[in-house]
Amino acid sequence: MSHVSLRSLFLRHVAQTSSAPMGLEVVRAEGIYLYTLSGQRYVDLVSGVSVSSVGHSHPRVVAAVQQQAAQYMHLMVYGEYIQSPQVLLAQKLCTLLPPSLSSVYFVNSGSEANEGAMKLAKRYTRRAEVVCFRNAYHGSTQGALSVAGNDALKQTFLPLLPGVRVLDFNSDEQLEQITERTACAIVEPIQGEAGVVVPQRNFLQKLRERCTAVGTLLIFDEVQTGMGRTGAMFAFERYGATPDVLTLGKAFGGGMPLGAFVASGELMGCLANPALGHITTFGGHPVSCAAGLAAVEVVESEKLLPEVAHKKQLLAEAMLAHPAVKEVRGEGLLLAVELGDAQRVQQFFRKTLQHGLAIDWFLFCNTAFRIAPPLNITDEQIGEVCNLLYKCLEK
Ligand code: PMP
Repeated sequence: MSHVSLRSLFLRHVAQTSSAPMGLEVVRAEGIYLYTLSGQRYVDLVSGVSVSSVGHSHPRVVAAVQQQAAQYMHLMVYGEYIQSPQVLLAQKLCTLLPPSLSSVYFVNSGSEANEGAMKLAKRYTRRAEVVCFRNAYHGSTQGALSVAGNDALKQTFLPLLPGVRVLDFNSDEQLEQITERTACAIVEPIQGEAGVVVPQRNFLQKLRERCTAVGTLLIFDEVQTGMGRTGAMFAFERYGATPDVLTLGKAFGGGMPLGAFVASGELMGCLANPALGHITTFGGHPVSCAAGLAAVEVVESEKLLPEVAHKKQLLAEAMLAHPAVKEVRGEGLLLAVELGDAQRVQQFFRKTLQHGLAIDWFLFCNTAFRIAPPLNITDEQIGEVCNLLYKCLEK
């Protein structure tokens, strides 16, 4: 099928989410690079939105997928059969987490992980109210959308869940609004789609203390920040606060669809009482779990995490040296480059593809662009990327 006709079929038959899809026709991806039909090479600075942390087509992940697909794929709805890829990934994950996070419920996506976590909190506490934070993004399903901290996104889908209270991220004073009526507070330890907003002044510790004081479960959504993106395996490790429930997605599946919510055995037990309180057909698909396990093993064996701070510094210093850049926010390889002007960002974006950069903006911040490459980008490749970024920043 010719290039042109595939594009027109894409526009006609594949449901569109915006009027301006990037429309790259990728035929191969390897490491930090995407290759199109015409042979053009693009640097992937977005990692499929924080998914491809170990780079595209990592041989260990590909081998794990091939091996598991040949052995068995879907067998039975989640939770019935003993499937070794699930068990081994759950065990591995729990060795990376504090002892209170010892039970893993596998799902298919980040949204679903947050849905499950919020249901668990309502079931366990027998309370209805949910607290979330301004400019948070937790997914697009109706429950997850209900706790988005952005009215414009929710507006056309009302009514959503009742009893949602939106507080300002980093406001210690507003934490008092979490009370004995609150089932859970859900928060991204570092807000992603808000334009990479980091927590300040022990905010997460204070949130943890408030939740403990009033018996509210604390959910950390690490769908975007988890599995090493910020240089720690989980961002919460940086801030001295442990959640009651942790949610994962994106990079967790090593490029395959996978999500999870993780809690204590005691908490998780309430989903089986009454039985089948939360069920999923494909959650924890064996091929996804095999890929996820391979990916976390790559992060460890290739010692990617200790290098992340240095890579961040290279990128941030180079960006801050450009006069158009007002600020670089973020931790590790989840960075927002703030230009302070939405038109300037649009101008920048118009140049990126022509200079071979695949890059993305944020849902709730139109004055910055995102840098979130695979964690195994090399120093040399960072130099190449910075040269390209400079060309795109030219007026
Ligand atoms: N939580 C966070 C913090 C996210 O960034 C996202 C996706 N951008 C989600 C949840 C939703 O994940 P998914 O798209 O896999 O449902």
